Amino acid sequence: MTRICVSVCETNVAALESAAVRASECADIVELRLDCLHDLRGVQQVLDRLSCPVILTLRPTEEGGHRELDHEARASFWKTAPHTDWWDIESDLIPETDWSHVIISHHDFAGVPQDLTRIYEQLAATPARMVKIAVQAHDIVDCIPVFQLLDRARSEGREVIVIAMGNAGVATRILGPSRGAFLTYAALNEGSTTAPGQITAQKLRSVYHVDKIDRDTMICGLVGQPVMHSVSPHMHNAAFRAAGVNGVYLPLEVRDVKTFFTRLVDPSTRELDWNLRGLSVTAPHKSTVLEYLDWIEPEAKQIGAVNTIVVDGDELRGFNTDAAGFIEPLLEVMGPLSGLRVAVIGAGGAARAAVWALLKHEAAVTLFARNTEKARALGQEFDVSYESLSSASFSNYDLVINATPLGSGELIDQSPATAEQLTGVRCVYDLVYNPIETLFLKEACKANCKTLRGLEMLVAQAKNQFQLWTGESASLNVMYDAAAAALDH
Ligand code: NAP
Repeated sequence: MTRICVSVCETNVAALESAAVRASECADIVELRLDCLHDLRGVQQVLDRLSCPVILTLRPTEEGGHRELDHEARASFWKTAPHTDWWDIESDLIPETDWSHVIISHHDFAGVPQDLTRIYEQLAATPARMVKIAVQAHDIVDCIPVFQLLDRARSEGREVIVIAMGNAGVATRILGPSRGAFLTYAALNEGSTTAPGQITAQKLRSVYHVDKIDRDTMICGLVGQPVMHSVSPHMHNAAFRAAGVNGVYLPLEVRDVKTFFTRLVDPSTRELDWNLRGLSVTAPHKSTVLEYLDWIEPEAKQIGAVNTIVVDGDELRGFNTDAAGFIEPLLEVMGPLSGLRVAVIGAGGAARAAVWALLKHEAAVTLFARNTEKARALGQEFDVSYESLSSASFSNYDLVINATPLGSGELIDQSPATAEQLTGVRCVYDLVYNPIETLFLKEACKANCKTLRGLEMLVAQAKNQFQLWTGESASLNVMYDAAAAALDH
């Protein structure tokens, strides 16, 4: 059974009551974190408004709470605390109470303690009904001991909540219930998280469908650092649902690729029994993953980057769907590309895949980059000419492609070319997909060029990944709508 517990922490009773009532509408359990309250009187008024199970928590600062509370103050609070289904009490307190509704908890905000097993055994030796341990993950491999502890507790019949906090621990929040965790914590909304890495209840349900995940669920994920900004979970999870595939797609924050492959991916060495089927790979790991694969398709070898991995029995197979994802929408808009004069701006990973695909379709490519050394190296590798980006004119080109981050993130107000520079160009393709409409595309419209958005490539490469993992066709519309909605949001 999957239970979502929404945790709320507010400074005054009215705000706590309002948040708790909203939480109860989307949660199975509500946790009232009382440590944010300036005045603890009035809690009963909040409880009277709630009909769902409630966890009462008064967290001191040293365990991640918001209130300086000495041992005595906490002990005295629990002596007269209002009755609720659950009391979450830190392990240094031995409550003089009925233990049958106590969650005995331990938090480590620095990392995963070496003696995690000993901590668990100590907590499990108390009469508390439930053991809760929350540790901080810095890399996806930090989730391994958490999953192992869940396995152990399940085999011992002990009710537990074990979580890895932080972005690298998100997999434990999504998969935890399917592996025996009594509940998973969630935030009411994006701005009201009560612990690092918490995601909203709405996202747990409507993006990850946590209540549908079981031990047979096929697991796919995005490997990179960072990964939490990605819209790939929105696209792939929506496509799994639409196709009736029992699958889930997770963000997997990976710092060290070698350790990740050894401990979590390679079927002959991995330490976790999980139904891993496929991985998307993003920056900075697209080239580094190559050496850990058993087989790589020739196209990906030539491009020098793998963005898709299939776990096929004992074998890890690498593919590049960026090149096809890049070219498919382009062919639809432009028709055959043979002899087309194409300017590619940028000399990084996306430019590599684009140049490779364009040459395959016999386009005449010129590279433009701010760093002419990098442009020269890439140009020599693919035997194409290169120029400096500064003061470039594109009027002699049929197609101009932006393969730099200009127009996104901190560079949102910048464009690699003005309308004036684009005059006479037939089509402009921006690989940036966030925002969907970039400044570059707006300049292209002013210059009366056709435009192609990065979102088209994003969806097309994802569709090809889906096919590799499931053997089925994904609905482009479902993926497109999910990505567009996430980006709009
Ligand atoms: P990358 O490997 O880091 O390469 C980025 C390139 O842009 C480098 O040549 C870099 O030059 C250049 N650049 C960075 N900042 C610049 C600036 N201010 N002015 C001029 N050039 C600049 O990144 P990537 O993986 O190729 O990605 C590039 C863009 O494509 C990103 O926005 C990414 O989101 C997008 N992309 C989209 C898709 C899709 O599916 N639509 C797929 C892949 C990538 P230096 O080497 O001099 O820093």
